[in-house]
Amino acid sequence: MSCVVNLEVKNLKKYYGDVHAVDGVSIDVNKGETISIIGPSGAGKSAFLRSIIQLENPDSGYIYVDNEIIFGIDEKTKKQEHIEHTEFTRRKSKIGMIFQRFNLFPHKTALENVSEAPMVVNNINKKEAIEEAKHLLNRVGLNDKYNSYPNEISGGQQQRVAIARALAMKPEILLCDEPTSSLDPELVGEVLAVLKELSEESMTMIVVSHEMSFAREVSDRVAFMDMGKIIDIGKSNDFFTKTNNDRVREFLKKIL
Ligand code: ADP
Repeated sequence: MSCVVNLEVKNLKKYYGDVHAVDGVSIDVNKGETISIIGPSGAGKSAFLRSIIQLENPDSGYIYVDNEIIFGIDEKTKKQEHIEHTEFTRRKSKIGMIFQRFNLFPHKTALENVSEAPMVVNNINKKEAIEEAKHLLNRVGLNDKYNSYPNEISGGQQQRVAIARALAMKPEILLCDEPTSSLDPELVGEVLAVLKELSEESMTMIVVSHEMSFAREVSDRVAFMDMGKIIDIGKSNDFFTKTNNDRVREFLKKIL
């Protein structure tokens, strides 16, 4: 793996009133690296991912994609970096995200869900967008579900459509917020298999997950978040056995 930083987050903060959901998180994610974020509920994992892709407005900190800034507010002066709109859109489009609850359009077929954004946002013509959408649906193993609506397919299949939809925008970085948490246990594996493949194909990924086997086997590094902070981070092969952090050990003891 090359060590080119793909995503750089510096001292990011997101507060909801008195709740310091993200409380000064810094991390460099290298191109092709997969990082799993684990930690207790309410730790700020989701708020962190949502802040990176600007679904939330962080209070302060800096975010860079490929060394180009997509967000910046100085903590002390509150001075905000001005980023020209088209440039911002171009830079931010390098980040894709998938969610716990899939968030598919219920009245659109799998093919329409995947082809919509490239047509509307990127002005790709319909024929090309449909061809690419089919290719992506094939890639996630859904070549027989092009015309299915979300309520006609399983949760695992819906999540795979959601992954194809994110990939249709050709992201370099994929943020996954508990991608298997709302799935029946027998459907978890098929989604993790797709994420594993993406990881092996050198997608840069941050995955918030309770799937410790995924964290251990697929990710390069594991970060533990608690009370808005990354309190421990390490290489995944060492993390589970060698952490010296009591809080992390306590957490792992409960779930492993
Ligand atoms: P996690 O993903 O680790 O379970 P979250 O990022 O969802 O944690 O939440 C972190 C903290 O921020 C929690 O205390 C949560 O209640 C709070 N929080 C998250 N979203 C909001 C919101 N929209 N409004 C107010 N508080 C929020």
